[in-house]
Amino acid sequence: MARYTGPVCRMCRREGTKLFLKGARCDSPKCAADRRENPPGSQSFRRGKMTDYGLHLREKQKVKHYYGVLEAQFRKYFKRAERTQGNTGQVLMGLLERRLDNIVHRLGFGQSRAQARQMVCHGHITVNGRRVDIPSFLVRPGDVIRVKERAKSLEQVTNNLAEHHRDVPDFLTLIPGDKPEGHVVRLPDMEDVSIPVQAQLIVELCSK
Ligand code: SF4
Repeated sequence: MARYTGPVCRMCRREGTKLFLKGARCDSPKCAADRRENPPGSQSFRRGKMTDYGLHLREKQKVKHYYGVLEAQFRKYFKRAERTQGNTGQVLMGLLERRLDNIVHRLGFGQSRAQARQMVCHGHITVNGRRVDIPSFLVRPGDVIRVKERAKSLEQVTNNLAEHHRDVPDFLTLIPGDKPEGHVVRLPDMEDVSIPVQAQLIVELCSK
């Protein structure tokens, strides 16, 4: 599936919030969102008053950028969430949170979702002992996520775990060590989403 390859800090500035797309840089004084409050673009000295449609759109764009999915794929997640029993917004966020690239990042194996995605695509990650190279693969409770036993893969992951400590969400368990592994304990819910999201706004926009 295609992915966005342009500059990412401008996305944080556009949304007016930190989306943590660059790993270690996001926690450093170099973070563009911390240094510049105005949106990107030569004429954007201040934010104008947001329309109702704008509020809905920005919420959707924020979530898309955060999880690194493009519009077509996002619509597929939304359709699937609509067909699933339960609150559509919560189901949608649960689906995005279950993506393998997100799980690899939330476990701390990858500094950012982009790095985690690359690790998955390059075959560094296994799920229940089988190599999975699809970033959109959806994990289930009971799944065990490991790093392939290649020296290079393990070295990168153990470095990331040592240098960039991150709280692991409750729906996952991390077992650190020479061969770190992650366990999916249960399905994620809204409390497990690490950015504030008004999922109802996205549902209202995508349902039109
Ligand atoms: Fe966003 Fe990270 Fe860039 Fe800061 S450094 S603007 S949080 S991507």
